[in-house]
Amino acid sequence: MEIQEMIEAVQRKLGIGVDGRAGAETWGAIYAAIVKPKIQGLPPAQAISPVDERSEKNIATLLPEVQPMARALVQKAAANGIQIKVLSGLRSYTEQDALYAQGRTASGNIVTNARGGYSNHNFGIAFDIGVFEGNRYLGTSPKYKAVGVLGMDLGLEWGGSWKSIVDEPHFQLRPSWATDLPERSMLAELRNRLSAGTEVYA
Ligand SMILES: [Zn+2]
Repeated sequence: MEIQEMIEAVQRKLGIGVDGRAGAETWGAIYAAIVKPKIQGLPPAQAISPVDERSEKNIATLLPEVQPMARALVQKAAANGIQIKVLSGLRSYTEQDALYAQGRTASGNIVTNARGGYSNHNFGIAFDIGVFEGNRYLGTSPKYKAVGVLGMDLGLEWGGSWKSIVDEPHFQLRPSWATDLPERSMLAELRNRLSAGTEVYA
């Protein structure tokens, strides 16, 4: 099944416009239908059994609301015969700035278009996964799309469904107040909340 068909199937199930592209309306409907009830009825983080050590180290950097979702994705992928690990979670503004410098003012290839405060990773709501076969990390694989659909089914927003920059390893848990917000506005509010010490999912 193509990713577009998968998104269409999700849209059909949610009773919203079917166009095979996941925009704000789709994410809003997914949030209302799946994520919100799941967060409300979510077992405590410790009730979901830990996954591999490397993933756990990165999952520990995420907000408590996101941690069980990340574990659930690793376990759901495994149940579908796909081995994934969580390779990154929270990045400080300083770490993000260092990544942004790569390929610009520092050596290496450009890896991000977001400077400090402009990535969802700076707020503990986003994580990146890697697909593995045994000990071998696969940078590209059709399995990323399959994991993307599993993540969306859990109520996560998947970077592979984005219209602008497609980012298949990326997942995030969109806060309810950001349901109808464009990415830019959501990031602005996340920055405000971080500097004010307001909870992201409040
Ligand atoms: Zn990411």
